[in-house]
Amino acid sequence: MAESQSRSFGFAGKKRASGADGFEGNDLFMAKKSMLPTLAPAWENDPAAALASARHEFGEYGGVNMSIEASATFTVMEPETMRRMFAGELGPDRDFFIYSRHFNPTVLNLGRQMAAMEGTEAAYCTASGMSAISSVLLQLSSSDGHVVASRTLYGGTHALLTHFLPRACNITTTFVDICDHEAVKNAILKGRTKVLFFESMSNPTLTVANIPELSRLAHDKETMVVVDNTFAPMVLSPARLGADVVVHSISKFISGGGDVIAGAVCGPGRLVNSMMDLHQGALMLLGPTMNAKVAFELSERIPHLGLRMKEHSRRAMDYAARMKKLGFRVIYPGLEDHPQHELLKSMANKEYGFGGLLCVDMESEERANGLMDHLQNYSQFGLIAVSLGYYETLMSCSGSSTSSEMNDEEKALAGILPGLVRMSIGYIGTLEQKWSQLEKALSRMHDSTSFNEN
Ligand SMILES: *Cc1c(COP(=O)(O)O)cnc(C)c1O
Repeated sequence: MAESQSRSFGFAGKKRASGADGFEGNDLFMAKKSMLPTLAPAWENDPAAALASARHEFGEYGGVNMSIEASATFTVMEPETMRRMFAGELGPDRDFFIYSRHFNPTVLNLGRQMAAMEGTEAAYCTASGMSAISSVLLQLSSSDGHVVASRTLYGGTHALLTHFLPRACNITTTFVDICDHEAVKNAILKGRTKVLFFESMSNPTLTVANIPELSRLAHDKETMVVVDNTFAPMVLSPARLGADVVVHSISKFISGGGDVIAGAVCGPGRLVNSMMDLHQGALMLLGPTMNAKVAFELSERIPHLGLRMKEHSRRAMDYAARMKKLGFRVIYPGLEDHPQHELLKSMANKEYGFGGLLCVDMESEERANGLMDHLQNYSQFGLIAVSLGYYETLMSCSGSSTSSEMNDEEKALAGILPGLVRMSIGYIGTLEQKWSQLEKALSRMHDSTSFNEN
């Protein structure tokens, strides 16, 4: 639509007055309604505190919730503005938007929340966790680049590094035991290794990485540290512990509804900007964009993420301790016998517990399947399904499901036992009601075979 036409129709609701594009007075129009602080809030050693002091976006008509900017494209008042936006002179920091694959205000607002939660300068949200991970790896390493990664990773990430990146762009990866700092140090080649990649709490073994020490090792060799914090939002804040970039699968705890696939890259402003660059940006050019309507829904769930994490953690801790008492082999970072229990305590944000996942080693795939069958179909404790962070408990046998991208040797190296049942503990019902269901299924396992108690 021509600008003159739009003016003659009198667009009363248009945010920018005619002639105001890019001129001094423009700031007036940015300050809609009493907007709370627009700068990144000070991180007060608590992700919930940081979230509460992040900018609150109000609706166009004063609604307590922001309006959804459900537009693919954006109009300008002056033709000249378009040139200035494409030249990078005017951008989203001043409320100038071009096209929603680039920046969208609603998606940007969710990014602001993610940045506040992780204590990073900026963040941008993507269509999935995998697209966040692949885009950041492609942005940070050019062709022939080298990555050092933990050998215990989400199956999709492991396949990306093992198969896809070497084939597509000759980016190769050395896999290491992330707890063996000497091995990590030796694997990082100064001048060649662009990224050290690991999970804060690994899938599915729940190994906790020493984020400050690993970051120091990598930074000594000018290598960027990228941490997947999907298993421990709120519990751990990797960027506050030294990591450069934090990636998330929002599809899990952050969404909490088991209904959305989404991801985020949280890191320095210059990295996020470079990923949106019109000529060189991995997010801009590969295009794994988040839909604004999805971003809106997710924004409404972030305020109660802290409450949900506390309850996931409280129940996981309780069930882990009780199952252990019954003689089951339980892996849970909240238990004192977990090898990184003290380390996690020293790094974790207070009051969010030790996370919502626990594993039980049933010693064979058959017994693992037997337990899950009892839990779902006999006592109704939870659902046999991959994924995590849902209000119902979700259970899967990792070796034959989410880690099946790895071969037997890779699984053995990663410590993924064939009988390992991973449980993402939900918070539906009461703790005691759900425990009695869990106990009922466990005692069936005791009855059906002699379980080797140790
Ligand atoms: C699920 C998951 C991913 C992938 O995220 P999607 O949103 O499914 O693309 C990456 N890392 C971890 C640790 C995950 O659990």
